[in-house]
Amino acid sequence: MRQPLVIANWKMHGKGAFNQALVEAFLAELKEYRAQCVLCPPFVYLGQLAELLGSSDVMLGAQDCSHIAEGAYTGEVSAQMLRDCGAQWVIVGHSERRQYHQESDALVAAKLSMAQHAGLTPVLCVGETQEQREAGEAESVVKAQLLGALDDLPDLQGLAIAYEPVWAIGTGLSASPEQAQAMHAFIRDVVTDLDATNASALRLLYGGSVKAGNAAELFAQADIDGALVGGASLDADAFAAIVSAA
Ligand code: PEP
Repeated sequence: MRQPLVIANWKMHGKGAFNQALVEAFLAELKEYRAQCVLCPPFVYLGQLAELLGSSDVMLGAQDCSHIAEGAYTGEVSAQMLRDCGAQWVIVGHSERRQYHQESDALVAAKLSMAQHAGLTPVLCVGETQEQREAGEAESVVKAQLLGALDDLPDLQGLAIAYEPVWAIGTGLSASPEQAQAMHAFIRDVVTDLDATNASALRLLYGGSVKAGNAAELFAQADIDGALVGGASLDADAFAAIVSAA
């Protein structure tokens, strides 16, 4: 039985007073839930959130990490530094990083390995664009991203994967539960070929316009173990409802 997992990706949003109000309202809203829950603010707010989350069960994560351990790399933040700030999770290979920062599968693989060495649990993001889906290439694109990032990992323990179709991120156009389930089942098949021992325990999250209104039907699918949530995670009521639905 896989424990549901719901992760908030704040992207480049946040401000001191806003963060405090959001986290306090979210924790107050969150009553009965069995999902693991992670908040990923921008790097500079990790310390503030670590304090706000205090002894609650809600965990802290980052949105990216460097592929390098340490050195003269201006602007980079290492996985170990994130660990020092209290992060336990890190998102790796988000489509916005692939698109705007030209992150390759090889770079994503190096980041995954750094994260695991530092004791962080990485969440590997994969997903196809609208054009790729229309060309019938969705599965081959996702498979190439998975193999490119995971081929050299010794095993698939200590990892989660988020399927985030690029056309559904921030657009309000969520994949249907059936479309998402079909891709999740495909992803589980691909990872089974890589590591049959751990594939059935691996948590597969869906991301792309998840809201309070569509979360339950997505989570009802056999291979959808939770969500990576962008926009709706900036609204305490909406995010608490998604966590409760998981
Ligand atoms: C995301 O940023 O990973 C995401 C899924 O965003 P949204 O929920 O806003 O589509």
